[in-house]
Amino acid sequence: MTAPDNPSLASKRREILPYVLACVTMAVTVLTLHLMGRIWWCACGQRFLWTGDIWSEHCSQHLVDPYLFSHISHGFWFYGLIMWLPLRYTRPSLGWALCIATIIECAWEVLENSPIIINRYRAVTISIGYTGDSVINSGMDIVACACGVFIARALGFAKTLALFVAFELGTLLWVRDNLTLNVLMLIWPIDAIRQWQSAIAG
Ligand SMILES: [Zn+2]
Repeated sequence: MTAPDNPSLASKRREILPYVLACVTMAVTVLTLHLMGRIWWCACGQRFLWTGDIWSEHCSQHLVDPYLFSHISHGFWFYGLIMWLPLRYTRPSLGWALCIATIIECAWEVLENSPIIINRYRAVTISIGYTGDSVINSGMDIVACACGVFIARALGFAKTLALFVAFELGTLLWVRDNLTLNVLMLIWPIDAIRQWQSAIAG
């Protein structure tokens, strides 16, 4: 019997296929962002692992910033939707859920760094000086989303929901921004909220 016909090897390959596809999608996205002209790391020339000030020019330009939490929440939502909505009756494995979530997140990162969304952010949200994420920041956002999928799987619905609410409230108090406001302000900007958010700009 030749190797590909070995049933255990074939099933192992089937099992790892979605993880391989997720990694390939991530690599292609990173390359795409680079080819779109995104810089690898912040233009300031330093290499911070963390930047906490969302008002500075370093935000979304270094490895991790407060928006990490909203990207982990993307993973929660994608996992929840993939597992419970249209695919409910053909429940995908963790691997395929991760793969689908990664593809959606990668598509969003490319869209987020395209002129149409960059200009929208600049026009209607607090991200007036937003010029797109650095490649390292986008890459980390995708990894955060993938982590969110694993966390949601491990915690189950109630604990994941509690963690999501904690992230939302925590970042709301901390930087006056979160996933809910980010989506709301991008789609339907409310001036009073923008002014409240801007009031802590230092
Ligand atoms: Zn910087």
